[in-house]
Amino acid sequence: MFISSVLFAQKEWLNLDRFAFEPGLSVNKTIPTPASFLGYELGEQSTYYSSIENYIKELSITSDRVKLVTYGKTYENRSLYLLVFSSPENLSNLESIRINHLKLMNSNDSQAKEIIERDPIFLSLSYNIHGNETSTSEAALQVAYRLAAATDEATNKLLQNSVIQLYVCINPDGRERYIQWYNSVKRKQLATSKNDLEHYEPAPNGRSNHYWFDVNRDWSWGIHPETRELTKEYQKWMPQIHVDHHEQGYNSNYFTMPGTTPRNKILPPSYEAWSDTFGRANIDAFNKNDISYFTREAFDFFYPGYGSSYPSIMGAIAMLTEQGGIAGGRAIETEDGTILTLRQRIWDHYTTSVQALFTGVKHKKELLKYSYDSWQPSKSLSAIKTYFLSPTDMYTPDVMKILQHHGVKFEQSKEAFTVNTAFDYISNAPQKKIFPKGTIILSCNQAQHLLINSVMDKSLEIEDSVMYDMAIWALPLAYNLNAYYTKEILSIPTEPISVTSTVHKIASNAYAYIMDWKQRNAPAALAHLWKLGYRVRSASKPFQIENNSFSPGSLIILAGANIDNKVNLESDLQKISKEHNVSIYSVLTGRSTEGLDLGSSKNRPVQQPKVALMVDAPFNMQTAGQIWFLFDEEVGLPVDRIRTSVLLQSAMPKFGERYGYADLNDYDVLILPGGGNNLKYIFEKDAFSQLQDWVNRGGILIALENAVEFFTQDRSKFTQVKWSEIPNDTSLMAKTVSFDKREDYFGKKRIPGSALMSQIDISNPLAFGMEPTLHTLKQDLSSFLPANGLQTVGTYHTDVSKLLTGGYAPKEALKHLSGKSFAGIMPMGSGKVVFLLDNTQFRMFWRGPSRMIQNAVMLLKQF
Ligand SMILES: [Zn+2]
Repeated sequence: MFISSVLFAQKEWLNLDRFAFEPGLSVNKTIPTPASFLGYELGEQSTYYSSIENYIKELSITSDRVKLVTYGKTYENRSLYLLVFSSPENLSNLESIRINHLKLMNSNDSQAKEIIERDPIFLSLSYNIHGNETSTSEAALQVAYRLAAATDEATNKLLQNSVIQLYVCINPDGRERYIQWYNSVKRKQLATSKNDLEHYEPAPNGRSNHYWFDVNRDWSWGIHPETRELTKEYQKWMPQIHVDHHEQGYNSNYFTMPGTTPRNKILPPSYEAWSDTFGRANIDAFNKNDISYFTREAFDFFYPGYGSSYPSIMGAIAMLTEQGGIAGGRAIETEDGTILTLRQRIWDHYTTSVQALFTGVKHKKELLKYSYDSWQPSKSLSAIKTYFLSPTDMYTPDVMKILQHHGVKFEQSKEAFTVNTAFDYISNAPQKKIFPKGTIILSCNQAQHLLINSVMDKSLEIEDSVMYDMAIWALPLAYNLNAYYTKEILSIPTEPISVTSTVHKIASNAYAYIMDWKQRNAPAALAHLWKLGYRVRSASKPFQIENNSFSPGSLIILAGANIDNKVNLESDLQKISKEHNVSIYSVLTGRSTEGLDLGSSKNRPVQQPKVALMVDAPFNMQTAGQIWFLFDEEVGLPVDRIRTSVLLQSAMPKFGERYGYADLNDYDVLILPGGGNNLKYIFEKDAFSQLQDWVNRGGILIALENAVEFFTQDRSKFTQVKWSEIPNDTSLMAKTVSFDKREDYFGKKRIPGSALMSQIDISNPLAFGMEPTLHTLKQDLSSFLPANGLQTVGTYHTDVSKLLTGGYAPKEALKHLSGKSFAGIMPMGSGKVVFLLDNTQFRMFWRGPSRMIQNAVMLLKQF
């Protein structure tokens, strides 16, 4: 007796009476509850991913209402799971139900009517894409238990009339990173003080995936397995509703639908009313149980990379729920003096999950009809009918791959054709344009028209509002494509895309081999050549040889320089050509018909650099993650990731635990991803002069984004580069704007992430392989000015009226930026300082500028 009352006292803080999961529900007693299986009440501890796996496997064994699907693996080799629930009868027939359901996408009205009358609705819920939003997956376990165990009439009907998809934990690598850390610092006495260690997770935190990416920006691009495998699985089910479960700061009350502006205006207009219906079902439950909440004032679903927007452009009602709780541990005192427990967070998400399922099945026929209508291109609210891509642009295959992943079909024109009113992505005026044979045709006359227009159209209507995220993501801008579109209905003779291999037969006994640097994967091929020990030169100017033209930067592999490895050269190049899909030409002479001869010493020998990338505060972990990913996953070049406290022997501020120091002299290239004003604390006194010495002796210092400002004349005087001060708004309006309008007024003074037309000096090694014009992604108002000795490589267009090519930017900001610089090189002694002010690979999908960082790291030291 004594022991059990002590246990009760220990668990009192869980408030199990108030936060019991539907205590009156009749259940099948043979199905284990999460609490009985785990040995603790949900909310009492944080559940390891391995325990989550064990429990859902147990459910799939003990219940005939659930099918367990493994749909992928993470970078850290954890399995990704989907639980599919339905009645045992439906499950025994699941494959044919699923296939019939997918027919709704491409059926006619009478077939659709039959499917809508007869078939179950598909309902989808997902959890924990942000790994440290812990209550979400814990709630998913209780939802899974309920669906497997409840025996009441309403649940039986729910299961008979629906197929439910539960993505239990989308980002297990992030979750486990958080849980391992949290459990390792957990106090025995409940840590309700917000100041305790339990509430301060170190970087890199569990929100992100292995490469420190926020994968809840990646649903539409599918760069990472967490989203790529998920959206592949998602398309096997094509649900009518999808709710993505999140957490926000612990002081915020529960957010439920609907959200705020801007809205994707090509979605069916009834989307808003449906999201309101589901939100109100949650509110009903919360009103009865005294749960605090809010709606409408925050969260928009405009950017298509969220779990709460991607399903909408795939024909579902996509929704978001946000529980207060990030960093809340098991319990925390919030700003209004109440204790928010993990148990409550779980209970709230459990409650809304159950509401969503019952609301969905209640409106089964209307929601199936909603999806059917969404998939009809004839009902499209977009005026655009067709997009045209050039097969020769560097990143066209990337864009095609993204869209094909979501089921989109492309064709190719059989002959040249004329479009009377074609639009490009730069001007807004229609033009008559003749397109060559082989042009890639992307027709909107397919079920995925909402997705196509949402990721291709650059003029999605933006309401007069402040953005939560970036304002433009149109793929032709992000990938710098020479693309067009038309609103005309055309009939172009087309054929299926022919996959032409760029792989050439590599001739043996050539004098030299040449690889054009304009190819998408030329950097990966170079890294591969280095790995095999080959000596490679990079052309400093364009040249022509044996009737082929090559761009600056092109790689030259002279047989004579590799005489010690000549026996393997031919087969290795064949392998490299195939693996990286690059053309390699062989020539029998070194004498060029135009330009420098191959053996000119102006064609620079490029050796594998030793590269250091700063990570840790104050550097930008997202940008650092992108650079890590780019070189580790894509290029295949080793990059050392150095903690701030490990850099620069003897000159560093003494903090953090160290087992040694990094010596800058071991490196050729140092990358500083952001860091802003805080760089002055990192590079003070001795560290500053050590860094100067290192550059003077030949180091390549690459300052990214807001690291640039520190290295200007106006801040640290490290270089002569002049910083362009951002003008203050001194207008009377700015001074007198009323309190309630301030957020809106100053919000609209910013650039939230827009495309700016820029000019690139492609003769500079920093821009080798690029096009002379570039849509750069601008996320603030920063820029620098020409200076003596500065090689300006990237300049914002000098004509203000042509500067903004997508998104939103206030006029004054465009006027301020026009003609100023965002990319350049300042030589210093034998070394160089490289300035790259705008992100060069944002979320790995804004790829147009990314050759600049590859050149800076791989080529620049020798030029
Ligand atoms: Zn989240």
